[in-house]
Amino acid sequence: MELSQARKYWKVGASIGCEGCEPFSSLFFKAFEPDETLLQRIDGKSWKRGQSIPAEDLRYLTLPHFPGINGDIVLGEMLCHKDIAPDLLDIFQSLFNHHYPIERLRLIDDYEADDNASMAANNSSCFCDRSVAWSSEKKSRHALGMAVDINPLYNPMVRVRDGVLKVYPPQSLPYADRTRNFDYKIERSDLCYKLFIARGFRWGGAWASGPDFQHFEK
Ligand SMILES: [Zn+2]
Repeated sequence: MELSQARKYWKVGASIGCEGCEPFSSLFFKAFEPDETLLQRIDGKSWKRGQSIPAEDLRYLTLPHFPGINGDIVLGEMLCHKDIAPDLLDIFQSLFNHHYPIERLRLIDDYEADDNASMAANNSSCFCDRSVAWSSEKKSRHALGMAVDINPLYNPMVRVRDGVLKVYPPQSLPYADRTRNFDYKIERSDLCYKLFIARGFRWGGAWASGPDFQHFEK
């Protein structure tokens, strides 16, 4: 099936009951090559035609997910590099099978490719042609579609600059203290952590220079 056909059914953000999964279930956990409609949606936001990585290197993933422990299935989406598409389909299938809560799964373009806005909305995302958060020059692995941020509001990026604690997004300050327990927390005992590590990803939460608890990359 082409993405243009799938789009008729795959209404991102829509929630569906388990028994009402048809005809959606045939579209669960699929990777599509981007079509022109998708490219127009992201051009000038997360992707710049002629400057960012070629469109044929990107894959659009259809990812059903559970926003909370209980409740309906919600239709989600993600854009990633084709090299990690099989990994992500497997990982998100396992998370789904275990009802692992992923609150929101939309392209960052719905937030005008503003990483802070996306993180503050607890939106999990992957591809975005941007620099790393603390530098305007260094390109992020997100720019290649090789990094994924999961439940970012509860798993912030933490830096100490000139003795001052910086938390991204700023709304995540209560979750910078990792000795506390709360929903959506990623740590080494967490299923999400285990699945990404098993697939050969590195976890930003282990970075001594400043942990990035939401971040997995290849
Ligand atoms: Zn990240």
